Amino acid sequence: MMKKHSIKISNATRYYPGAAKPAIDDISLDIAPGEFMTFLGPSGSGKTTLLSIIAGFVTLNAGSVEIDGQDITNLKPHKRDLGVVFQQYALFPHMTVSQNIAYPLRQRGVSKAEIATKVTHVLDLVQLGDFAHRLPRQLSGGQQQRVALARAVVYEPRALLLDEPLGALDKRLRDRLQLEIARMHRELGMTFVFVTHDQEEALTLSDRIAVFNNGKIVQVGTPTELYQRPNSLFVARFLGESNVMEGSRPATNIIVRPEHINLKALTSKCSEGELSKTATITDIAFAGAHLKVGLSFSDGEIGSSLITAGNPLHFQRGEAVLAVWSQANQHTVASEGCVPDSGKR
Ligand code: ADP
Ligand code: MG
Repeated sequence: MMKKHSIKISNATRYYPGAAKPAIDDISLDIAPGEFMTFLGPSGSGKTTLLSIIAGFVTLNAGSVEIDGQDITNLKPHKRDLGVVFQQYALFPHMTVSQNIAYPLRQRGVSKAEIATKVTHVLDLVQLGDFAHRLPRQLSGGQQQRVALARAVVYEPRALLLDEPLGALDKRLRDRLQLEIARMHRELGMTFVFVTHDQEEALTLSDRIAVFNNGKIVQVGTPTELYQRPNSLFVARFLGESNVMEGSRPATNIIVRPEHINLKALTSKCSEGELSKTATITDIAFAGAHLKVGLSFSDGEIGSSLITAGNPLHFQRGEAVLAVWSQANQHTVASEGCVPDSGKR
């Protein structure tokens, strides 16, 4: 276990040269020692900029960054003692796996014996013990990224910063490496700051998620908090699927998650505390433990209902139904602001 460190960002603002609006707009965020914090948001929302500010690759126009209460705002990147992994593996092509991983230790003047011990240890950590003498080009993309992870943690940095490290991998490898990153986090006990635009990845890995939109963090919370109590339509749509209904108060919407929508015959009556809206079934898909029923509501909104597999579905595609939910399972949010597509359906 490594010592755990906190990161504090206060009123961080960054304008790129010539830009009319800031890439990062007055962001404050506390990352707890040992926490797995994820920056989640659409492309261009400022995630990489904030991560680069922590790493020291990008400077601030206003605000500060602290580690364990020490102001590092003006410290050069190599003096910050942080590990960094990007989407591109950036391994040295002419060095073996071992030599790649030993590189940051050699740079720090660590003794040969200690280098050998540490390299062996992190090779085990990323399960590449048998690949020590290979060159990067003799490895798969997933293996190369594991070497990059090993190289980033071998000198025991104060935190690990990861910018879409799985972005270049196919789905199966990505799922596998996700689990490995979660395991590394558990075993090392280090603070991880992880950037992704993939909500599923964020929900799987994170202790907390900071949701980015337009250079701002719009909500910070645990995966459960964000899913159950999104503070805006934007967050609701970015994390998981939502059925969106017109709110009863002006400028509000009601959100109901698909697992809370039941389907009934048009003629059926609602009971106390239940609400409903008519919809047409657009498709029915088997999704493992659930049936996913696509809905097109009478007001033009689209949505879905998840039915636990094994429960009978009495309807067919094209049929009109009553979508019914309990008041306890609806959530009111402000409707203002734009709603970018999360890229998932
Ligand atoms: P994300 O990682 O969420 O996709 P970025 O932090 O890369 O977002 O970008 C935030 C905004 O800053 C975008 O509008 C982007 O075009 C702009 N930007 C990012 N890097 C640069 C740069 N080096 N020069 C100028 N503008 C940049
Ligand atoms: Mg980015």
